[in-house]
Amino acid sequence: MQKLENKTVFITGGFSGIGNACVIAAANEGANIAIADMKSETTDEVMEEVKKVNPRAIFIECDVSVFAQVQTAIEKVVSTFGTLDVALNNAGIAGEPNKIGDMTEHAWLKVIGINLNGVFNGMKHELAQMAKQKNGVIINMASILGKVGFATSAHYVAAKHGVIGLTQTAALEYALEGIRINAICPGFIETPLIAKSDIGTNPEIKQHIIDLHPMKRMGKSEEIAKGFIFLACDDSSFITGTTLEIDGGFLAE
Ligand code: NAD
Repeated sequence: MQKLENKTVFITGGFSGIGNACVIAAANEGANIAIADMKSETTDEVMEEVKKVNPRAIFIECDVSVFAQVQTAIEKVVSTFGTLDVALNNAGIAGEPNKIGDMTEHAWLKVIGINLNGVFNGMKHELAQMAKQKNGVIINMASILGKVGFATSAHYVAAKHGVIGLTQTAALEYALEGIRINAICPGFIETPLIAKSDIGTNPEIKQHIIDLHPMKRMGKSEEIAKGFIFLACDDSSFITGTTLEIDGGFLAE
């Protein structure tokens, strides 16, 4: 039996990396898929791949940092599929690295706008719909950097700590309304986000990052997707307000 059969799953940032692995995993579990992402040259290609797994899939062009666009996206999901059963607030960027004293206001606001405000924008509209249904699951893509500091990434670290706070608070507010809300904290995962950063371009930095994980490797998007499916389906029916660390032991040190 498929774990998300006929459930409607909304995933932000579903075109690439972790989000895309979660899209494919959910489609394989029988879910209707709604991807909210920025339009790119690969939009048609990615949608074709998803539809090969499950033809009940739509793309909604949406910048998660824009409140009204996220509201419209959720309305589109509900008008297309009738319900919103699972939401994965995943869209995010790494941001320009710098020490706080050298960080521009623009760099700070950009990361906070997408990685923190984007999650609030999603949760606000997802929860309004799920509260009407008295049913739903939300998963937020936080990070190990939502639990510890990391030099030159204050914007990212602050946003991810905020995402965990939002997750815990929402779990308390909606525990009696049939809605579970959890976060995933991935370690460093091999995705385009990492490939584009100095970790991807500088072998010494890459080795340093690998060495921070006791398992001495970075993770794969598919390993995060397995945790996502667990939190999205009834296997985790008594789990809310928690963080699932999928990090090769990073946070245990
Ligand atoms: P990625 O760059 O491969 O994919 C990110 C996706 O988000 C892309 O499809 C992109 O188009 C989309 N996106 C970016 N800005 C957007 C916006 N304003 N509105 C809508 N969509 C937008 O990145 P990834 O590594 O797969 O990261 C996914 C999530 O996982 C992010 O929240 C990231 O912070 C988190 N994460 C990643 C790692 C890692 O090591 N890769 C570790 C921990 C957490």
